Amino acid sequence: MQLMTLLDGKATSIAIQEELKIAVTERMNNGGSRPHLAAIIVGDNPASRAYVGHKIKACERVGFDSSLIELPDNIREDELIHEVQMLNDDKSVDGFIVQLPLPKHIDDQVVLQAIHPDKDVDGFHPIHAGRLSLGLPSFLPATPAGIMELLERYGIETSGKHAVIIGRSSIVGTPMALLLSRNAQPGNCTVTICHSRTQDLPSITRQADILIAAIGKPHFVTSDMIKPGAVIIDVGINRIPDATKKSGSRLTGDVDYQAAVQVASAITPVPGGVGPMTIAMLLKNTLEASA
Ligand code: NAD
Repeated sequence: MQLMTLLDGKATSIAIQEELKIAVTERMNNGGSRPHLAAIIVGDNPASRAYVGHKIKACERVGFDSSLIELPDNIREDELIHEVQMLNDDKSVDGFIVQLPLPKHIDDQVVLQAIHPDKDVDGFHPIHAGRLSLGLPSFLPATPAGIMELLERYGIETSGKHAVIIGRSSIVGTPMALLLSRNAQPGNCTVTICHSRTQDLPSITRQADILIAAIGKPHFVTSDMIKPGAVIIDVGINRIPDATKKSGSRLTGDVDYQAAVQVASAITPVPGGVGPMTIAMLLKNTLEASA
């Protein structure tokens, strides 16, 4: 029987953070400045607060400065854009993020496009999306970049493989497809993007050598959708009820993990897979922004 590889995003993220910490120390020793990441959070969505909290903690671990700008749920779009412009102009800030989702009365795209591309360490600005699609250097969106890093560090062969991505969002599915199909290492995949209108999804996912689930539906990918020996990347973060937990709930991915481990050759767990890699890549972009 083939041994299954656990793609440990948590351990890999810690290793990357150690590398970043060394790079910061070296830079400081050479008279350079300490990288500074700022984050804007609007409202009190508990999941968003937890994500931002992890990002700020990671900054402390690697020796970056960090700032958290907390704004009320009822802030107007023009007021939020004013805050973005203040960070654009603040010379002490190298990069910043606006944590999504934003309240419904605010247009995400208007806010994200107000961020100066040089400080857009989430890589969501159209300039970065355009550069990525042309294969030019850019800040890569952290989640797909983290997945590429994980594939590389685990030595997963991608060249010539069929990668099937479920989900076409502009922050995960679409940039993931661009990165996997690039003429690069890792890359050179034949890529299929599936979405909510895809017909007979299992017949497509069963062709995947590398299957990436970025849907937002717990346990959506079942073992009958997986080709034996496939590499499974589970991007989903879903909170489901769990009476055995003190909080009454727990996090789970888009893949039925217990079933998938019986079929896959490698898999990312949730939590501890793609999530920590996303944070590592955000830090990497910030170090680059501060250079
Ligand atoms: P999204 O809601 O923008 O996109 C979901 C995608 O799933 C859509 O493209 C949609 O077409 C597709 N979809 C929905 N139902 C489907 C179905 N029945 N069959 C096939 N496709 C279907 O979500 P997103 O922002 O890309 O995030 C996806 C998931 O990944 C969420 O759970 C989110 O929390 C998680 N996420 C995790 C990280 C991380 O760091 N681990 C980062 C970003 C997003």
